[in-house]
Amino acid sequence: MICILVASTKDKLLFYLTKTYANKELVAIKNSTEFFCPCCGAEVILKIGQIKTPHFAHKSLTHCDTYSEPESPRHLQGKLLLYQFFSSKNYAVELEKYLPEICQRADLLVNRQFAIEYQCSPLSTAQLAVRTHGYLQHGIQPVWIVGIEGPLKDGIQLLKIPAWIKELLRLNPGYIILFSPEENSFYYYSNLFYVSGNQWIGKVKPLSALKQSFPFAVPKKLTEKEFETMFNLFHQTRRKFIASQSFIKNRIASPFWRACYELQIKEGTLPEAFGLPLKNAEFIPCNAVLWQLQVIEASQKEIAVKALIESKKIPISHPAALEDAEALVENYLALYERLKEHRGGNAVLMKFLFDSYCKSV
Ligand SMILES: [Zn+2]
Repeated sequence: MICILVASTKDKLLFYLTKTYANKELVAIKNSTEFFCPCCGAEVILKIGQIKTPHFAHKSLTHCDTYSEPESPRHLQGKLLLYQFFSSKNYAVELEKYLPEICQRADLLVNRQFAIEYQCSPLSTAQLAVRTHGYLQHGIQPVWIVGIEGPLKDGIQLLKIPAWIKELLRLNPGYIILFSPEENSFYYYSNLFYVSGNQWIGKVKPLSALKQSFPFAVPKKLTEKEFETMFNLFHQTRRKFIASQSFIKNRIASPFWRACYELQIKEGTLPEAFGLPLKNAEFIPCNAVLWQLQVIEASQKEIAVKALIESKKIPISHPAALEDAEALVENYLALYERLKEHRGGNAVLMKFLFDSYCKSV
């Protein structure tokens, strides 16, 4: 069922559920007015509950704005709070603005320039691309905000980021904006370092709607202390990965053991220069130890970076990420050259990586 907060009356006037109405008032309105969806024109019913935010629901199952979210109280509440956020800052904000040129309904349209999409349920990569493209074609900048329950623990930590949220990183490089209606607070996932699978290490920071600005605040880079926490967590995942490799029975078929063999690395003596946490590592969705071993193996065999990637020995996240993956490998090769003789222990390695991180952000 598709739920909305704005409906059109018979006289084509828009009725907004953005104010706080007494239940009595809503019942009177419901009994005296017919409402229609501004998007598809179908009849909608005003739903008044004790707990849920009042909203309009389509009377019958419809294919209205196929990319809309299914019913969710969090989505309705979040949209309302975000609407209030923009109104309080005196922006021209339109709730559930239907754009007939692209057949899309923006959760919020701000200054006719930004489409704020508050997304509480997973969206496919294709849907995300279509919606983003639709807005951009009309000179509208989409801004995606992920709906969460909150509160979230803040600080540097291991994060599980599902694929659809990871997609948003391509639109907002480096960070993800989240919003919890329960707390009326934004959250940021920033300074994200890819580990493997859907695992990342990053910084979580809340920002109350009362302290948020627009355009939205941009997260700061990590301090040295925060970088150290990130590095230590990353190092733990690295140790786990290496330990897991010793259980592999068929070592000849294992890319890890093959690379170790080719590089003449004996068990338990993997140099620190393999398995470094790097910015943009998500372009190679594979454990850092593994792809970095394979990069050095290829480099010693004088295989060019492009040829290595084309051989599919190391995966890339997306066909369009080819150049980014190449840049990542080149960056690693340069770091490796400076670190291959490194024997200074983790503190020195951390400092070196922090300096290189500071230059990159
Ligand atoms: Zn509709």
